[in-house]
Amino acid sequence: MSVLIVGSTALDSIKTPKAENPRLLGGSASHAAVAASFFAPVKLVGVVGEDFPKKYVALYKKHGIDLTGLQIQPGKTFHWAGEYELNMNNRRTLTTELGVFEKFTPHLPEKHKKSPFVLLANIAPALQHHVLDQMNKPKFVVADTMDLWLNIALEDLVGLIKRVDGFVLNDSEAHQLTKEDNVFAALKKLHKMGPKYVIIKKGSHGSILSGPDGFFICPAYPLHKVVDPTGAGDSFVGGMMGYLSTAKGDVRKNIRKAMVYGSVTAAFCCEGFGLNQTTKTTRKNIDVRVRELEAITRF
Ligand code: AMP
Repeated sequence: MSVLIVGSTALDSIKTPKAENPRLLGGSASHAAVAASFFAPVKLVGVVGEDFPKKYVALYKKHGIDLTGLQIQPGKTFHWAGEYELNMNNRRTLTTELGVFEKFTPHLPEKHKKSPFVLLANIAPALQHHVLDQMNKPKFVVADTMDLWLNIALEDLVGLIKRVDGFVLNDSEAHQLTKEDNVFAALKKLHKMGPKYVIIKKGSHGSILSGPDGFFICPAYPLHKVVDPTGAGDSFVGGMMGYLSTAKGDVRKNIRKAMVYGSVTAAFCCEGFGLNQTTKTTRKNIDVRVRELEAITRF
């Protein structure tokens, strides 16, 4: 089964204390789609401008990503610039140039409307709603978000949370949304807002799932060097959805393992700028790290 991924398709300019890299392939949907492609066929829905480099289209294609839903509009591709501190958990946004994103309406090609697995990667919640309105009874829908939407589109976001099976957010967003400092109390409140599965991402400290079978603490792969964590969250949820969509059995049975695969895929993302390392890895490399993670967390 394939996974449909809708989100931002961007050019990212990233500055770390060690280096600076302009106009890399980025965006929530790009990171999620490449991550998911190691496990399942992926359909990408997004928008880019006429300036979008052909080499990036080729990169999507190299990963077998279906681009029928990728619109190319007159104007400039969404451009995001961010800068990291020495502690890579701290990042500030330098620039957000919406470009063609400003007038973007995601239109789903007919064949996309029946996709069983849908990832609404980070994008304005109104657009996430618009995608769901076009879907024909999807089996499992997960939405991701960011603090910006909590600040400027809270009502839309709260409405969206009611409509999805799974909701993914990071710990500071969970705190902002629920006013709870304690992560388990926050999970309880998030369930009351609608979704059956809630995942709180905690960066290099892994993630926590709360679902019908209780909690699951998913570790992060222990990296000794992080080059650029941009897109790690998107890679995590993309890898998880890719794995889920092809695993035998139902979501309830597979979600823990899917998170571990997502976590390992996200670690590859952190080892290079933008998508540089993720695109170089293989399913075999991912499997090796999953086994390592299993060995160091078993007791
Ligand atoms: P993450 O590191 O998981 O927070 O994701 C970083 C990605 O989010 C980058 O590739 C950006 O292009 C993308 N991004 C940044 N701001 C926005 C926004 N306002 N809407 C959608 N995507 C964004």
